[in-house]
Amino acid sequence: MKRILCMGIESTAHTFGIGIVDSKGKILADVRDTFTTKKGGMIPNEVALHHEKVKERVLEEALKSSDTNLEDIDVIAFSQGPGLAPCLVVGMNFSKEIALNSKKPLVGVNHIVGHLELGKILTKAEDPIFVFVSGANTQIIAHEGGKYRVFGEALSIALGNALDKFGRIIGLGFPAGPKIEKLAKKGKYIELPYCVKGMDVDFSGILTKVENLYRKGARKEDLCYSLQETCFAMLTEVAERALAHCGKNEILLIGGVAANKRFCEMLDVMCKERGAKFYACPLKYAGDNGVQIAWLGILEYKTRKNFPKIEEMDIKPRWRVDEVETTWI
Ligand code: AMP
Ligand code: MG
Repeated sequence: MKRILCMGIESTAHTFGIGIVDSKGKILADVRDTFTTKKGGMIPNEVALHHEKVKERVLEEALKSSDTNLEDIDVIAFSQGPGLAPCLVVGMNFSKEIALNSKKPLVGVNHIVGHLELGKILTKAEDPIFVFVSGANTQIIAHEGGKYRVFGEALSIALGNALDKFGRIIGLGFPAGPKIEKLAKKGKYIELPYCVKGMDVDFSGILTKVENLYRKGARKEDLCYSLQETCFAMLTEVAERALAHCGKNEILLIGGVAANKRFCEMLDVMCKERGAKFYACPLKYAGDNGVQIAWLGILEYKTRKNFPKIEEMDIKPRWRVDEVETTWI
């Protein structure tokens, strides 16, 4: 079969990224520019401005690093959702502009499904239970009955977001996850509420509790350690139940929080005890990137029959994984 090249454009949240991938899964380009702050969190409009500022340079670098030009690209894919509306608009408009100018087909793909599919091809996991933990999402997902379905999720805030919020309270800046992981190494356990409700988890009460303890003078290290231990244990419990319920034997950890060694260790121990395999998305691709969008673009382009007209495409800020028809599986 003819080799297809896809350029994927990611802009759902903090990262503006462009990836170029071929139909064998070979990564030709992966350029990203991520909005960060020393103090305080992300304001969607500020992040969108950041994306506006960097988009042309990221495109240039992606083409240059892959030694391709736009003529070589067969299809362009963009992250249509879910995500922050102002950020999504920047990515979509830029993608439309490139597609129309270069007369290439444009595919709008689901950012989360992009994480799932890239995780699969990079780890060679076949049909795993996905533990997806990013800044904005915390979901336990599996492919069942022709779709990706959500078996459990965070009821209020996502885990990455909870870590970042706590980081902000204790003055760590964004993203706080890696700094919390470091501080946690020197911490001792303080009991925190453990909130698993059926297959769902809730981090909001825990966040309030650590915040209160911090204001009363508890050590940052102990709070970081206890926050990690409690939240990771909750998700490990739900992931184990999903394995049993779906009769699957692989766990694949994806999303930015997959960078956390302690979380990987807890899931790995659980898998070993059940005779299941544990995979974590390679660190480099655990966070948001254009490669995940390009790879899903290839899968969709090869298998989907009808695509909407470019002028009719719009962002889908609340697009859920279970609304995506997985034509390639
Ligand atoms: P994503 O939205 O998938 O790009 O992931 C970003 C999130 O991952 C942010 O909330 C980070 O704080 C979090 N994160 C990154 N590295 C780590 C880490 N080592 N431990 C915990 N969370 C992390
Ligand atoms: Mg993401």
